[in-house]
Amino acid sequence: PRLANQIAAGEVVERPSSVIKELVENAIDAGARRIDIELEAGGARLIRVRDNGRGIGHDDLPLALSRHATSKIESLSDLEGVQSLGFRGEALAAISSVSRLELFSNTYDDTSQAWRVTAEGRDMQSSVTPAPHPRGTSVTVRDLFFNTPARRKFLRTEKTELNHVEEVFRRLALSRFDIGWSLRHNQKPVHQLGPCDSELAGEQRIATLLGREFLKNALHIDIEATGLRLSGWVGLPTHTRAQADQQYFFVNGRVIRDRLVAHAVRQAYRDVLFHGRHPVFVLYLELDPAVVDVNVHPTKHEVRFRDGRLVHDFLFSSLHKALADV
Ligand code: ADP
Ligand code: MG
Repeated sequence: PRLANQIAAGEVVERPSSVIKELVENAIDAGARRIDIELEAGGARLIRVRDNGRGIGHDDLPLALSRHATSKIESLSDLEGVQSLGFRGEALAAISSVSRLELFSNTYDDTSQAWRVTAEGRDMQSSVTPAPHPRGTSVTVRDLFFNTPARRKFLRTEKTELNHVEEVFRRLALSRFDIGWSLRHNQKPVHQLGPCDSELAGEQRIATLLGREFLKNALHIDIEATGLRLSGWVGLPTHTRAQADQQYFFVNGRVIRDRLVAHAVRQAYRDVLFHGRHPVFVLYLELDPAVVDVNVHPTKHEVRFRDGRLVHDFLFSSLHKALADV
């Protein structure tokens, strides 16, 4: 199982930012309202993600670290219409196969009911022991790739790894405005975002994560038709310093990169953008989970729409109309 886990780790764990993505997705799936992330040395030395979600009970702890153990789907047919971010049951096993992992969790509001397990370079190693922790879960990942030197060599400088982490953080924080977030690196705060309870607070978060310039030159949209809803911010051609990387597209809360989506957006912008400018946007598409397949790739960045044509035309016409009205 160790080898299989390490192979799986190659697919989902590329660098510290991918560990953070997986741990945070678990926190979101657990219903957390507050997620705190801490790193040392760009995440190569330490990554800690702490949430206040529903926690993992004593008996489920050994399972959480073993491969293909997921609590999120019970049968293959559940995969259709899956609403959780995770469902493959691979992440924790994969991460623990290439690091020193420590997990604390508590399903109660009573710190004496909390438990700890550890794993080091393989499936769970220690027994489940009591340890104090408030309701929720903390996962600490130390010395990433300590036992796979070839992979460790691929880690870049602290600054580069932190940049990757910040990009992942941005996506995650943009995906859930109702969650409060913090990111610390080498004991210093990088981001501190309270949960957003109003539209103004939401715009404040956009400004914090993407800059005032983005917000000032963006149009807020919210369009609904034929069971599809598209909302968010589209950058206007007035945004002369638009960065090509400010393109965020979420499908049912999951950040995705998709050819069909990219094409529809590009087409919609074609008439309004001057040559060489980049469309920038933060867009949220919501649709019935049953008509979108998210189990296309282990990183789950790709999706397949049951009716691609319908989605493409809805995106194009919504955006085209919004941009033409300006
Ligand atoms: P998946 O997310 O695909 O189910 P993971 O390996 O990421 O697989 O996690 C394994 C299981 O551990 C999850 O199905 C869940 O039951 C539990 N788990 C992991 N992280 C958390 C967390 N932060 N809070 C609650 N449960 C968690
Ligand atoms: Mg997961």
